[in-house]
Amino acid sequence: MERIIMDWQRIRSDFPILDQQVNGHPLVYLDSAASSQKPRAVIDSLVRFYERDNANVHRALHELSNRATDAFESVRGKVARFIGAASEDEIIFTRGTTEGINLVANSWACANLKPGDVILTSSMEHHSGLVPWQLAAQRTGATLRHIPVLDDGTLDMDAFEKLLTPEVRLLSIVHISNSLGTINPVREMVARAKKTGAVTLVDAAQSTGHVPLNIADIGCDFLVFSGHKICAPTGIGVLYGRYSLLESMPPWHGGGEMILQVRLEASTYKPPPARFEAGTPDIAGVIGLGAAIDYLQAVGLENIEKHGLELASRALTRLDEIPGIRILGPKSGPRGSLVAFHAEWAHPHDLVEFANSHGIAMRGGHHCTQPLMKRFQVPGTTRASFYLYNTPEEIDRLAEVLAAARKFFA
Ligand code: PLP
Repeated sequence: MERIIMDWQRIRSDFPILDQQVNGHPLVYLDSAASSQKPRAVIDSLVRFYERDNANVHRALHELSNRATDAFESVRGKVARFIGAASEDEIIFTRGTTEGINLVANSWACANLKPGDVILTSSMEHHSGLVPWQLAAQRTGATLRHIPVLDDGTLDMDAFEKLLTPEVRLLSIVHISNSLGTINPVREMVARAKKTGAVTLVDAAQSTGHVPLNIADIGCDFLVFSGHKICAPTGIGVLYGRYSLLESMPPWHGGGEMILQVRLEASTYKPPPARFEAGTPDIAGVIGLGAAIDYLQAVGLENIEKHGLELASRALTRLDEIPGIRILGPKSGPRGSLVAFHAEWAHPHDLVEFANSHGIAMRGGHHCTQPLMKRFQVPGTTRASFYLYNTPEEIDRLAEVLAAARKFFA
């Protein structure tokens, strides 16, 4: 079989923003877990849309509106194929992962849960995988349970088995932890939860666009992700929902385009996905999402996954050489393309500022996972996160700057 050698430097050159100096140093962008950079193809798709096709969708019969509607709706099918959904009607455009989870919490959970029911999630969820369930539990009287995290940053699967009682009506679980890099065994967990009749939601904010994803393989009922983390613009995201469930769910937001008929007293609603997309959507965002998916698929998700793991492994090795650095999350084996650590000689914010003065963009703090920081007894961590435009040389530069930081702070 022909072996394809990826030219990651060429891929890097597709991202215009990376070609700049920050504080007198070449920019090293290691904050993609927070938000990714955009390739020229995505930026161009937005310019093209606004220069040639811009109009509202679904509403008018004029040429521009038809073009905008066709372009917008074609992305629904593209997303469905990208994540292996059975139908494009299972794809709902949202503002992002947070809104997708809130939609399920407000619609499905509030319509289906009652006192005595249990929402099972984990202690490594992003706040957007915790707070919406807290709000839903307050409204419905349901109880929250959390799967604990072991010292090595993996989920306590024995505890999961014990917590998964017949009262569990919903399992909501993060696929790849944004604070540890842990890859959770979502396929096995979903299969296990289905046996007890629970509905399942996977937070794929850190896995979509980083590893090949397939809904049919995972078997979940809902899956959510954000466009801005996979090279698409901010403000656009996706909720996948199994059609039979979506069909049974009440709307969350009311407004234009989600209705069949409106009377002054009450209204009837369109079937999904329109039922869950009230008002003018982020049309340009959807066009950009389509361009981002085309771009990622041209590079290949298997290639991106392999590259991400190579960068993370290199970072683990290089950071391990620096005294006083404690890495959180799995130290070996498959992991997400990020490394989070606590340096005993500097506060994460000071370290991030030091790195910034050397042109390196990282994130320091609790990464919207405060319970996890408490679990590991750290005030916060420093996180270096990688994507397809990062190179091994940048990891070496990170190690060099961290070694200098240790001398500086110590
Ligand atoms: N879930 C995970 C695992 C995340 O990493 C993030 C963002 O960092 C979110 C949810 C929330 O995503 P957004 O802010 O795009 O809605």
